[in-house]
Amino acid sequence: MPECYARSCKLSARPGQLTISCAVPVSAAWPLQMVETDGGIRAVDWVWCDAASGRAGAMVPLPADTQSVRGRGIEVIIAANWKMNPPLADAAALAVAYAADSFDGVTRILFPPAPYLVQMGVRLDGTDMLVGGQDCHHNASGAHTGDVAAGMLADCGARVVLLGHSERRADHGEDDALVATKAAAALSAGLDVMICVGETLDQREAGSAEAVVTVQLEGSVPAGIDASRLMLAYEPVWAIGTGKVAGVEEIAAMHAAIQQWLAKRDLASVPILYGGSVKPGNADAIFGVPDVGGALVGGASLKAEDFNGICSAGARAAAARS
Ligand code: PEP
Repeated sequence: MPECYARSCKLSARPGQLTISCAVPVSAAWPLQMVETDGGIRAVDWVWCDAASGRAGAMVPLPADTQSVRGRGIEVIIAANWKMNPPLADAAALAVAYAADSFDGVTRILFPPAPYLVQMGVRLDGTDMLVGGQDCHHNASGAHTGDVAAGMLADCGARVVLLGHSERRADHGEDDALVATKAAAALSAGLDVMICVGETLDQREAGSAEAVVTVQLEGSVPAGIDASRLMLAYEPVWAIGTGKVAGVEEIAAMHAAIQQWLAKRDLASVPILYGGSVKPGNADAIFGVPDVGGALVGGASLKAEDFNGICSAGARAAAARS
């Protein structure tokens, strides 16, 4: 008999009441209206079954959680940005692998493709790993084909949204003003925001990296934002997906400059994550840099072993700081 895997659900599958067949493919998940649970007949949004493990779970609507992602006294934030990867079957297996581990002093965030938010959310329910959106529209609703509103992300279990990633700035022409408007929309929908900034190689070689990042901060971070709702990610564009990592001195200088910018705006408690080819082999050195509050991880988050290696480094850094 499949066992309930979702903390938020009292589902217990019994023959004749809810049939969850483990003959379905791994990662099957489908909408279901009503099931009988220990607490009586309840509406559930999704139920899923993992044929390999025999585990099943369901997601029931939860009251909006307005607590900040960072309201748990954590020291290091490690976020997985899956971008437009991987296919659902691999994504489900990866989330189950993530769910098997936890790391002291580390809060993990998963940014899956938007259509997978619910499926990944149920697999991570009850763990320290939260889910978030990779982007949102700046309006709450309307005629915006293909876009997703922040409130819709929240309805799907997202607690945070990534904004201003350099791939969105490059692929979709998003500028700082738009990022700020999206951030305001996300905050209104109850989401925390993680805003990305970072210079190109040309800008760094021209000696203008700090000036570029300062302009991005000025334009992208909404004035008067509550510090507990904001995270920043410094991601040098030339280090993203290239295998090139900024040197610890470059990271230290930029994070110190960002920290100074934050302090002047009463935002000194905002964590600054580093992103750009973070791997298990360089994570300890990066987390050892002052003012690095965690990592935003792309490629290495697609392998559980690599992501876990980075999280282990995060736990070591958290222990050293406490
Ligand atoms: C990213 O996409 O935010 C990122 C840092 O990617 P990667 O780790 O692959 O460089």
